[in-house]
Amino acid sequence: MNLVLFGPPAAGKGTQAKRLVEERGMIQLSTGDMLRAARASGTELGKRVAGVMDRGELVTDEIVIALIEEQLPRTEAAGGAIFDGFPRTLAQAEALDILLQGRGSKVDKVIRLKVDDAALVKRIEGRFAAEGRPDDNPESFKVRLSAYNSQTAPLLPYYAGQGKLTEVDGMVSIEAVAAAIDKALGA
Ligand code: AMP
Repeated sequence: MNLVLFGPPAAGKGTQAKRLVEERGMIQLSTGDMLRAARASGTELGKRVAGVMDRGELVTDEIVIALIEEQLPRTEAAGGAIFDGFPRTLAQAEALDILLQGRGSKVDKVIRLKVDDAALVKRIEGRFAAEGRPDDNPESFKVRLSAYNSQTAPLLPYYAGQGKLTEVDGMVSIEAVAAAIDKALGA
């Protein structure tokens, strides 16, 4: 099964993806994690995306689509992927559909974690203080939220139109969100 975990930055996608990996053995594909790894190992790609990421803007579709394409073969052996932070634009969503189709597969479900902006800002203040991620600073976070609202949220009708979208309240405890996701997945 291929699952897209959808939601604004700091909605809890990464936390829930990691739990699903532990419990179900699926593979988490986080383009944010892949890009941070590229930066940490000092690759050309890492250097190219550093400024864009730190400002909170989106990197190009071409870059993230290539990262995902590279990883798809290994997700099949594991029984599916959890897409976390991808797709973030309509072009990415369409590319993902085509890539999966070419491999005889598809996006099976999209789970949207709904969290209001005020709660996100509060969460991110805590994460910035604890982890110091450069793009969690208040300026960059504002840009990330606005990128979500203008470029990513328009994917909701795309997936709703395909009958794949389930909405989950992301304002409750991690355990309660987990239970709602399990219910949506039919487990
Ligand atoms: P994340 O950890 O998912 O919040 O991603 C951190 C940053 O990486 C984002 O603010 C973007 O700069 C970049 N990024 C991650 N995933 C994507 C994507 N699917 N499309 C464009 N940029 C992305």
